Amino acid sequence: MNFEIPADTRDIADGLISFIDRFVVPLENAHSDLLATERTRTDERGILVPAVRDLQRTVRKASADAGFYTLFGDPSLGGGGLGEGALAHIQERLNHTYGPPRTLIHEVVIPSVFTNGATPLLLELQPHLRDRHIAAIVSGESTLCFGLSEAGAGSDPQRMRTTAVKDGDEWVINGSKQWITNAAYADFCILFAITDPEAARARRGGITAFFVDTRSEGFECTGIIPLLGQAGSNVGIVSIDELRVPDDHIIGTPNRGLTLALLGISKGRLSMSGMCVGLAQWALDLSLDYAQQRETFDVPIAQHQMIQAKLAEMAIDIYAAKSAVARTAWMVESGQPTRKETSIVKALTTEMLGRVTDSAIQIHGAMGLTNELRIEEAWRLARIVRIPDGTAEIQRRAIALQLLRGDAAL
Ligand SMILES: Cc1cc2nc3c(=O)[nH]c(=O)nc-3n(C[C@H](O)[C@H](O)[C@H](O)COP(=O)(O)OP(=O)(O)OC[C@H]3O[C@@H](n4cnc5c(N)ncnc54)[C@H](O)[C@@H]3O)c2cc1C
Repeated sequence: MNFEIPADTRDIADGLISFIDRFVVPLENAHSDLLATERTRTDERGILVPAVRDLQRTVRKASADAGFYTLFGDPSLGGGGLGEGALAHIQERLNHTYGPPRTLIHEVVIPSVFTNGATPLLLELQPHLRDRHIAAIVSGESTLCFGLSEAGAGSDPQRMRTTAVKDGDEWVINGSKQWITNAAYADFCILFAITDPEAARARRGGITAFFVDTRSEGFECTGIIPLLGQAGSNVGIVSIDELRVPDDHIIGTPNRGLTLALLGISKGRLSMSGMCVGLAQWALDLSLDYAQQRETFDVPIAQHQMIQAKLAEMAIDIYAAKSAVARTAWMVESGQPTRKETSIVKALTTEMLGRVTDSAIQIHGAMGLTNELRIEEAWRLARIVRIPDGTAEIQRRAIALQLLRGDAAL
């Protein structure tokens, strides 16, 4: 394989950075008081205030107009159709340049492949719904959420309790969802419910995906869940009470919802992996600068061997992760099976980011703990990303199952 990033991918990444610098950063500066802290950005429930949401919509639409918002969407959905290699590289550049998530940048300029933009699941939407809604989704006017997990069903979604019962040409859905990214803001939800309880109990399908307008009666985001000391977060709880959904709002094949949920999983994992590699490089850059400026015992701390070892270990970790991401992206794009490899890079990169950001804090001493430098934000994010999109243990389970099935080549 060729490790060189193609010139057109580099050009797109350069164009994206230039768009953010020219359009989004000035917007951040103009609204710095509003965006300054969680206290100014969110209300008493931890939900973003309308003025911030308006700014996000402005950025989404500008990004869509400039051609960045849907770079990774399928061309038949109006997306740019870029593959996994470009996705990993562009996420790496974005996070290396701007550090931990900023309210108007990261998932706003380029939506999460799974949760709020032109997800590949929409390929299975009925044609009349595609015609009606896709334009708003790809223009950044409307966003989505992905409603699979529940309080009692995360790694094992088959344990979900939300049910859909057929009534004429509609389905009546009852239950609840938890940990749903973007639930408080989404216009549409891809909602999963049990439609064949016997098949679900026997773990032979029985779960169906529905396309739901979040303004429908019976669908309500009842709150968001504060995470890791924050006042808010982007994950919400959804209550579903006698929600009526037309039969033609089923996405894909009835009772095959979990198979559908796996569509685009490699894009989701490589996107997260590229993000981790970029953020780790951002933390290493800060650490290199600081280690050469900060003096103790009459020399820069970079001259102490224990600090040098930390810097070197950060580089070893990042280099290994970056190489694994590039190889896996290449395997996906060349049509090779990558079941264990996408699990390997998800586990490897998220855990690598934890080690690298921890070292970055240590190298900065007390300064590393301050909100001002934002390394602690990267460290908290590193802790979070080991849970969603398959926990560290579920990735290891998937890797081991593949190895034991005979897929042991590395
Ligand atoms: C920030 C964030 C965003 C999220 N966004 C979404 C979203 O948009 N949509 C959505 O549907 N869900 C979302 N989730 C939910 C996420 O998918 C689940 O949290 C995740 O699948 C784990 O489920 P759980 O939390 O219920 O843990 P559990 O499944 O209860 O697991 C508890 C522990 O047991 C371990 N474990 C479970 N099974 C095994 C096993 N077989 N072998 C070994 N160990 C095992 C787990 O790894 C974990 O350590 C999000 C979660 C977070 C934190």
